[in-house]
Amino acid sequence: MAPIPSLWLGRANRPTLVRRNVTILVIYCALMGLVVGSFLNVVVYRVPRHLSIVRPRSACPTCHEPIKDRDNIPIVSWLLLRGRCRNCHSPISSRYPLVEFGTGLLFGVTAWRWGVHFDLVAFLVLDAALVALALIDVEHLLLPRSIIYPTLAGVGPWLVISAAHYGQWHRLLIAVICAVTWFAAFFVLNFLSPRALGFGDVRLSLVLGLTLGWMGVGDVFIGFFASNLIGAVVGLTLIATKKRARDEPIPYGVYLAVGTILAILVGPALLAHWHSLTNAN
Ligand SMILES: [Zn+2]
Repeated sequence: MAPIPSLWLGRANRPTLVRRNVTILVIYCALMGLVVGSFLNVVVYRVPRHLSIVRPRSACPTCHEPIKDRDNIPIVSWLLLRGRCRNCHSPISSRYPLVEFGTGLLFGVTAWRWGVHFDLVAFLVLDAALVALALIDVEHLLLPRSIIYPTLAGVGPWLVISAAHYGQWHRLLIAVICAVTWFAAFFVLNFLSPRALGFGDVRLSLVLGLTLGWMGVGDVFIGFFASNLIGAVVGLTLIATKKRARDEPIPYGVYLAVGTILAILVGPALLAHWHSLTNAN
C-alpha cells in the first residue's frame, strides 16, 4: 500500500497518461470545444433570463431574423460575415467567437494534459460548466443551480464509473470527503455572512471538491488557494484603480472557476515538482 502522505497528496493517485494518439485527441477535443462554446453562448445569455436553451433557435438581437445553419459555424461564420448580421448588417459582439475560441482552446489543453484517459470526459464537462458559470457570474453575480446540478449529475456518476473501471475506489472516497469538507466550510461562511459568500458558491464547491478531490487533496488546495489569491489580487487592483467600490459584491465564482482550471492543468506538475524537492532532502 502507498504511504499515506503521498496517497493524500495525490501522487499515488496520478493517472497513467497515455501519450499515444494524443495529437488526434487534442484536435478532436479542440474542435468539439468550438461547438460546445457556441452552445455556451446560448446558455450564458438565456439561463439567467429564464429562457429555454432549446427553443427558439438563435436570432439576430437587432432584427430578430433566425440565424441560418451556414451562419452558425463557430468563429468561421463570424469572420466571414465580418462580425455583422447577414440580414440587417448590425454588428454582432466579438464576445461570441471569443467564447467559442476560448472553449476550444480550453478543451484542447485539457485533452493534451490528460491524454487518452477515462477521466478526460469529466474534466471536459467541468470545463464547459465553469466557462458558462464564470461568464454568468461576472455579468449577473449569479451561479444558476440549473447549471451546477446538471454538472454534478454529469461528473459524479462518471467518476463512479471511472473508479470501477480503474478499481480506484479510494480516490472516490477522497473526492467525496473533499467535496463534503469544502461544502461544509462554505456553508458555514454563507451562514455567517451571506453577503460575502452567496449560496451559489456553496453549491459550486461541491462540484469543485469532488473533481479536484478525485485528482488528489493537494490539487484541492492548489485550486482553492489559486482562486483566492487571484481573487484578492484582482479585487484589490480594481479597488486601488477605483474601478470598483470597496463594498461592491465580487463575482467569486469567476475566481473559483479560474483557480480550478489552473489546478486541473498545472496542479499535478506543481505537486510533482514539490515532491521532487522534498524527496531530494
Ligand atoms: Zn440582424
